Amino acid sequence: TPVAHDAACIFCKIINGEIPSFKLIETEHTFSFLDIQPTAEGHTLIIPKYHGAKLHDIPDEYLAEVLPITKKLAKILGVDKVGSDGLGYNVLQNNGRIAHQEVDHVHFHLIPKRDKETGLG
Ligand code: 5GP
Ligand code: ZN
Repeated sequence: TPVAHDAACIFCKIINGEIPSFKLIETEHTFSFLDIQPTAEGHTLIIPKYHGAKLHDIPDEYLAEVLPITKKLAKILGVDKVGSDGLGYNVLQNNGRIAHQEVDHVHFHLIPKRDKETGLG
């Protein structure tokens, strides 16, 4: 159970295993899993194991693990070979409805971009 936990939060439930997910990597402070409505194959969410709605709510020790894990996931998803034709990825993190945030537990999107796909990214 996350230190800061919201029993009604869908992503806290995913961390706890109360809601199933396709888990990729779990660390002391992070959890990553496939997005249920991917905009591209391999669309992944990386979340801190700390319930906070906005980036500025999350303690630094949780955030410190996010980018190293994002790098590992880029390799696992095979999008780290940027420079090959038509290969890349986006890392996105939305705060607030006006910024298209739907789930109020901080999450980073890792969205593969491959030339055969036309995902919204
Ligand atoms: P936001 O718009 O808040 O930045 O993105 C929320 C993301 O969470 C969306 O891409 C949505 O598909 C994903 N999502 C919402 N509920 C679930 C869920 O129950 N399981 C998974 N794996 N992803 C979810
Ligand atoms: Zn939560």
